[in-house]
Amino acid sequence: MSIYLEKKEKCCGCKACQDICSFNAISFNCDDEGFWYPNIDENKCVECKLCEKICPQLIKIEEKKPLEIYAARNINEQIINQSSSGGIFTALATTIINEKKGHVYCVEYDNNMVAKYKCVDKIEDLNSCRGSKYVQADAKEIYKNILEDLKNGIFVMFIGTPCQAAAVREITKNNEEKILIVDFICHGVPSPKLFKEYIDYMQKKNRSKIVKYNNRSKIEGWKHLEELTFENGKVDYTSSFSQAWRNIFNSHNCLRPSCYECRYNHYEKRRADITIADYWGIDNFHKDFSNDAGNSLVVIYTKKGEEWFKKMSKQILYISSEIEYCIFRQPHFRGESAVSLNRDEFWVDYKRKGVDFIIKKYGKCTLKLRTKKFIKRKLGRI
Ligand SMILES: Cc1cc2nc3c(=O)[nH]c(=O)nc-3n(C[C@H](O)[C@H](O)[C@H](O)COP(=O)(O)OP(=O)(O)OC[C@H]3O[C@@H](n4cnc5c(N)ncnc54)[C@H](O)[C@@H]3O)c2cc1C
Ligand code: SF4
Ligand code: SF4
Ligand code: SF4
Repeated sequence: MSIYLEKKEKCCGCKACQDICSFNAISFNCDDEGFWYPNIDENKCVECKLCEKICPQLIKIEEKKPLEIYAARNINEQIINQSSSGGIFTALATTIINEKKGHVYCVEYDNNMVAKYKCVDKIEDLNSCRGSKYVQADAKEIYKNILEDLKNGIFVMFIGTPCQAAAVREITKNNEEKILIVDFICHGVPSPKLFKEYIDYMQKKNRSKIVKYNNRSKIEGWKHLEELTFENGKVDYTSSFSQAWRNIFNSHNCLRPSCYECRYNHYEKRRADITIADYWGIDNFHKDFSNDAGNSLVVIYTKKGEEWFKKMSKQILYISSEIEYCIFRQPHFRGESAVSLNRDEFWVDYKRKGVDFIIKKYGKCTLKLRTKKFIKRKLGRI
């Protein structure tokens, strides 16, 4: 076996190694937590070590400081409301499609609520890719497709987690001028298997299929509120169960093991041209600029990033900011890991008692908590 995998924390599951291996020696299997890991067929592997050379968990990281930092948002309020933060992803992607007829690689939920990469070349197809999906997205075959696009002279924009962005950077090193790489501040990615089980649980409970899942509904403004739309017309963002995934995500108990030792979360260890995020804490520093519907943080790392920021500037409002301000409410941009003291207990509970128990206990949906919430709501109405 050629690839370096001594423990689970070492693999971020980007799947770049599978795409780069010309001998089809790498496949992926899920472990019992539902995270995928590479398997190498020793009969096919010729020990060329190419998979190791491009692995974002093995490459050397050269630290670099941000060139520019902005607080920003889209000028279109409707787009902000459909986006997690200030709608900067849409402004950038629209500019790439308009100016370069480029291909944008971004993530949507498919009909079964599985987060998957999609290649978009029309502005209207960006709609389903707006909004954060708080689960690990499958990057299968995107590296191959990006390389093919670059070979055919197509300009590419990639957006993804910092580790996926690092893999894209490494694989496209020879075509730097034809690709814009964007990442975001990354809290970590939860288990796709657990998310699917949560979706199944909610569908069963509501006796209806989920047709839209919004991890960052703006119905009550800019915060973390989840909104589920069912085939029968029901929309749920108020029940305790509708917020269970948010609570499980924020508990850090079901993140991928590599996220607890992330190599890329510090702001000087990025390999993207631009990092975007929520500008949490903006009211402490730019109160006059801040907007109730959502605010983005934009951090520029390269000349190319600067260039594309200028090109999209007609679509956004922005002001200059400072690194000290934007790391204030962002532990994962200061390099701190997504620590969880209860992770082992969480997975033991899951294995022994199943997803229903997990949803109630870690999603904060026990009868006691639901009764408390109900009384609070009633009192609030009096
Ligand atoms: C798993 C995850 C963790 C995050 N953690 C933080 C954090 O700790 N702090 C913070 O400030 N911001 C975090 N973000 C980023 C933030 O939620 C917004 O996505 C970002 O600010 C962009 O918002 P926007 O309004 O410009 O665009 P949006 O329209 O919200 O665009 C979101 C973009 O992210 C891409 N995307 C969505 N889900 C995934 C996924 N699972 N994997 C790869 N790409 C995806 C979509 O393709 C889209 O391009 C996180 C995002 C994700 C997906
Ligand atoms: S981090 Fe990515 S490239 Fe490295 S072994 Fe894991 S899936 Fe493969
Ligand atoms: S060493 Fe080469 S042949 Fe073997 S799995 Fe890696 S890329 Fe494929
Ligand atoms: S926390 Fe780090 S390892 Fe985990 S998905 Fe984000 S960038 Fe990758």
